[in-house]
Amino acid sequence: MKKLTRRDFGKLSALGIASVGLPMGETEGATLSTVALTSIVSRHVNLPAAKGHRVVVVGGGWCGLTIAKYLKIHGPDLDVVLIEKNSLFVSHPISGLWLSGLVNLEAITFSYLDAAANNDYTYLNATLIDLDRVSRTIFTDQGRLNYDDLILAPGIDYDYDSIGVEDIAQEQLLKTRYPAGFVSASEHMTLKNKIKNFEGGIFALNAPSGIYRCSATPYERACLIASVFKRDKIKGKVVLIDSREKPAVSAEGFLSAFEELYGDTIEYINSSVISAVNPESRSVLTDFDEIVFDDAAIYPRIRGARLLEQLGLADFNSAQMEAAIDPFTYNAVGDAHVYIAGDCRPMPFSKSGNTARTEGVYLAELVAARARGSEISWRSPRTICYSMVNTQPNEAIMVDGKYQFDKLSGQWEHFENFAVNKRNQDMGKETFKWAERHFLDMFD
Ligand SMILES: Cc1cc2nc3c(=O)[nH]c(=O)nc-3n(C[C@H](O)[C@H](O)[C@H](O)COP(=O)(O)OP(=O)(O)OC[C@H]3O[C@@H](n4cnc5c(N)ncnc54)[C@H](O)[C@@H]3O)c2cc1C
Repeated sequence: MKKLTRRDFGKLSALGIASVGLPMGETEGATLSTVALTSIVSRHVNLPAAKGHRVVVVGGGWCGLTIAKYLKIHGPDLDVVLIEKNSLFVSHPISGLWLSGLVNLEAITFSYLDAAANNDYTYLNATLIDLDRVSRTIFTDQGRLNYDDLILAPGIDYDYDSIGVEDIAQEQLLKTRYPAGFVSASEHMTLKNKIKNFEGGIFALNAPSGIYRCSATPYERACLIASVFKRDKIKGKVVLIDSREKPAVSAEGFLSAFEELYGDTIEYINSSVISAVNPESRSVLTDFDEIVFDDAAIYPRIRGARLLEQLGLADFNSAQMEAAIDPFTYNAVGDAHVYIAGDCRPMPFSKSGNTARTEGVYLAELVAARARGSEISWRSPRTICYSMVNTQPNEAIMVDGKYQFDKLSGQWEHFENFAVNKRNQDMGKETFKWAERHFLDMFD
């Protein structure tokens, strides 16, 4: 029996469609895998026929939810379908406030049905498996569906090789016992339980190399976990390992919080690249040191969602296996009807929710305009990030900035940057307001 390879992924779906409707005898000789795949891809999803130009959005995270909503705002006649594999939305932003007891789980949990009903699009709880760009068909675990335009916003995956964990069994152990807490709601839940049940000792965290999801979060998380240790009088220390010399963002604000608020409760180990992690002996090896921990959340370097690579849409020359797209229109290279956005973009923008949402608003406007036969000018996404560094009282710092492309150097650069590094209670209040504004916009 022929073993499936990644290269076969796209071809097999075409074979699956070709087999549909053939008399039984004509599929004889097909491998077991092909027959099984055919049964998934042969049926249509259970949705009414498209009423007009259909735009399918895959991935109901911060980017996809925004795109689905704003497609209907800019193109009320578009038939918009949002496909998301989860049946409930649990937000990554603000999950740190939940970890530290400042908000309850309901505050960060939302229904996709509400988002779809309130914004007049269709939500399909399904997983994208494959894509045939010639016939403009996607294949999901719920069947296949045709599109006029397709927007993929599948987010990111972890790259465990980057921290020296190449053995699959070790990777699985590490993911299960010491999850990073940067992709799924289960990871957040496990992390919350770890903090609640921590009996003392060293709690290890790290900020990975490269551009990782939300530059401020490892530093904010260190502060929030330390604040729980202080509040609950746990004899614990947060050890934060960073390959950088200083925090990737808001360095002044975070370093003064570490020193002035947490003293011995946070140990910041800078300029230290992780070369190995052993989940059994609970140890992290850096270029200089071995750190033995009692509990941990180990954050590997990230990469664009593996799905893109499987679909032949990843750029092997990008820094972190991100999408192969035109950076201004988000079109998959050579495809006028497929777009890719969100944290899996190759541009060196902050991989953050505010960035993904502002990018999503622009892209929705562009796709709606093109469906009418017009174009709009490129607009920069905007990164705004609040970090709660103290919980007694609530005090935060923040950064705000945009991006522009310098044609001379061929590089992206920051502009209109603004930062508040002196923690204060007004920023603490703004942190909650920022989140409420985004949740309201996506779900109401
Ligand atoms: C702990 C934490 C704290 C953060 N704090 C902040 C913050 O304070 N401010 C800020 O701006 N940003 C913050 N971020 C970053 C922010 O969450 C991300 O940048 C943002 O979620 C990116 O949006 P996205 O839509 O690209 O990806 P995601 O939100 O990850 O969405 C991707 C979606 O695609 C779905 N999907 C993937 N594959 C498939 C498939 N095959 N079929 C169907 N669905 C699929 C996934 O289930 C997921 O719902 C934080 C992130 C974390 C982890």
